Amino acid sequence: MNAIRHDFRSDTVTKPGAGMRAAMAEAEVGDDVFGDDPSVNRLEQRMAAMLDKQAALFVPSGTMSNLLALMSHCGRGDEFIAGQKAHLYVNEAGGAAVLGSIQPQPIAHQPDGTMALGDIEDAIKPDDNHYARTRVIALENTFGGRVLPMGYMQAVAGIAQRHGLGLHLDGARAFNASVALGMDIADFVTPFDTVSICLSKGLGAPVGSVLVGRADLIEKARRNRKMLGGGLRQSGILAAAGLYALEHHVARLADDHRRARQLAEGLARHAALKVDMPDTNILWVNADADIAERFDTYLADNGIAVIGRYGQQRWVTHLDVDDEDVAGALDVVNRFFL
Ligand SMILES: *Cc1c(COP(=O)(O)O)cnc(C)c1O
Repeated sequence: MNAIRHDFRSDTVTKPGAGMRAAMAEAEVGDDVFGDDPSVNRLEQRMAAMLDKQAALFVPSGTMSNLLALMSHCGRGDEFIAGQKAHLYVNEAGGAAVLGSIQPQPIAHQPDGTMALGDIEDAIKPDDNHYARTRVIALENTFGGRVLPMGYMQAVAGIAQRHGLGLHLDGARAFNASVALGMDIADFVTPFDTVSICLSKGLGAPVGSVLVGRADLIEKARRNRKMLGGGLRQSGILAAAGLYALEHHVARLADDHRRARQLAEGLARHAALKVDMPDTNILWVNADADIAERFDTYLADNGIAVIGRYGQQRWVTHLDVDDEDVAGALDVVNRFFL
């Protein structure tokens, strides 16, 4: 593998630029475990205000944020409902089960990425001592880069309400969804009791996520954050990067979405590549079986980094991908097919 020239692996690979680094260097700090860090407090207040929720909590990662949300909604032996491919079910090392004693109830996805409403209803357990108590439904949006419709989220919120369940959004990329929909983020997250937002994905901060939601749930999460070892001290240096990102890196997500579409259109010119037109910044590509492995190797040898194997690839655009990267990558791909 040659040096990476065009890095499409993930929007987590971005490095803080000069403006963000200056904001970090100048950040006012204090001891956040004592509640004394003005930059962390500002970030939490700003996030709560932007999402129109009561409270927010700055945490080291999206994984911790999702776990804390589940631990706020559930006690030992309780259960959460989530998609079979949900990040908080598949990609978080089983933390809810291991650390929260919370059992997952996974639900199959429909081809459009949603869970069937009937499947969700059927999975909610009646109050009977044979069963774990169902406490919360967790949605993810964007889901694999796809924007799931507002109507779906509202319908699931209706189910949660009818059954007295909490509703959590893994909104690692919720800002991508709201920008793609041209919607205020507060309107996008209205149905949810808790929302987890990643600062270190498309927003381009080096570290951190924020859990936002109802004050009583966030208060529980604050105690559990300490228990999990996520209570940080002069973390205002990191919160300052988050504040900078909220100021400068939200509207520009539209550029990432435009570039993902340009990549998709360029790749789709080749009949051997099956390309899903992206809603946001994540693009799925399937290379025909007869070229799959050769195409994977060719991209790596030519400095194009994507995630995937056997020709099933995920390309992600982000703050550190510009128009030249898109043009350069398409050039390399075009040469493969000459
Ligand atoms: C990245 C991601 C997370 C977890 O964030 P980390 O900061 O990597 O722990 C959670 N959910 C989704 C959908 C993500 O993409």
